[in-house]
Amino acid sequence: TQPENDRFFKYSDLSVNLAEPHMLQQKPNVHDLVFGKFFTDHMFKVYYHESLGGWQQPVITPLENLVFHPAAKVLHYAVEAFEGMKAYRGVDGKIRLFRPELNMERMNMSARRMGLPTFNSNELIKCFSRLISIDQEWVPHSESSSLYIRPTIIGIDPTLGVATSNSAMLFVILCPVGSYFHGSNAQKGISLLADPRYTRAWPGGCGNSKVGSNYAPTIHVQNTAVEMGLQQVLWLYGDDHQVTEVGTMNVFMFFINENGDKELVTPSLNGLILPGITRNSILSLANEMNQFKVTERTITMSEICQLLSENRLLEMFGAGTACVISPISNIDYLGQMLHIPTTEQSKPVHQLFLKTLLNIQYGYIPDHPWTWEI
Ligand code: PMP
Repeated sequence: TQPENDRFFKYSDLSVNLAEPHMLQQKPNVHDLVFGKFFTDHMFKVYYHESLGGWQQPVITPLENLVFHPAAKVLHYAVEAFEGMKAYRGVDGKIRLFRPELNMERMNMSARRMGLPTFNSNELIKCFSRLISIDQEWVPHSESSSLYIRPTIIGIDPTLGVATSNSAMLFVILCPVGSYFHGSNAQKGISLLADPRYTRAWPGGCGNSKVGSNYAPTIHVQNTAVEMGLQQVLWLYGDDHQVTEVGTMNVFMFFINENGDKELVTPSLNGLILPGITRNSILSLANEMNQFKVTERTITMSEICQLLSENRLLEMFGAGTACVISPISNIDYLGQMLHIPTTEQSKPVHQLFLKTLLNIQYGYIPDHPWTWEI
């Protein structure tokens, strides 16, 4: 469905302007990595100008500040879309991406929803793979860390109309990040706030797009959860309090169904759910394992309460690029604290998924079709 290929920027046109040695930043200690605080020495960028024929020449430059007209659409109407993915340094020293083509497909979908131009997925992957190889010493030499990749596209027309962006900029920045799951909090489950007064997505909206306008309104709610001593928000929707996502993760439930069989369930992609790459991967792995039923359907809070009262709820967990799998232990719902026995199972499935995904990402399973070597 993409227009003619020659409208897109190409890797073969990429120009590289390396930082002078004196401009190179000191690399942080792996133990000091705070999410999104340290950036590598270079960035990728490419402009789009309809009046100049569309995409311009892609470039890699030293990391630098951006300059826009104060009317730039991104600053007023949040005309932007972004992605979050990682590069991993494997046990064999090779650097790998994990299913990057799915992130690019999602970014093109998000861009289209924002009236932003689309691009060729493969060409962008090749461009930022070059960026990663230039800044490869920033990919932590540690299996509990990785290099976070943040591709972003913004509308920059200097006009206040709420309209299609005729000028845009796509850039990619990189930051080394620590892990959420190693260390003291290793296997501790998280506690969630499930308050039906808040919602993050609705039918006909853009909850299934990765756009900045979905995230700013969650900050206040997240702060409310933290003030209550909880870690994340369990996002509900509708009069029946449907469970949609947890924080910035997709949600899974593992339980014993009415036939007495084990079943893994996650909400279906009904427009309210971000189509997570981790979610997609867990569903594939679960289907491949073929040890329990796997379904995509609506989950409601009343179903969770019912399953708990019958001791049929085994595990609940969040899944996303940032922490891969995050076990859920408690849900604060309508003044009641529901306890989920996720971390008390003898052979929890969430641990199995975590281990398999890490084994693929860190090269323990070499040449896995989901990896893309840099
Ligand atoms: N839901 C939301 C709202 C998110 O922001 C993310 C992170 N991209 C996810 C789910 C998980 O998606 P992924 O597995 O692709 O990181």
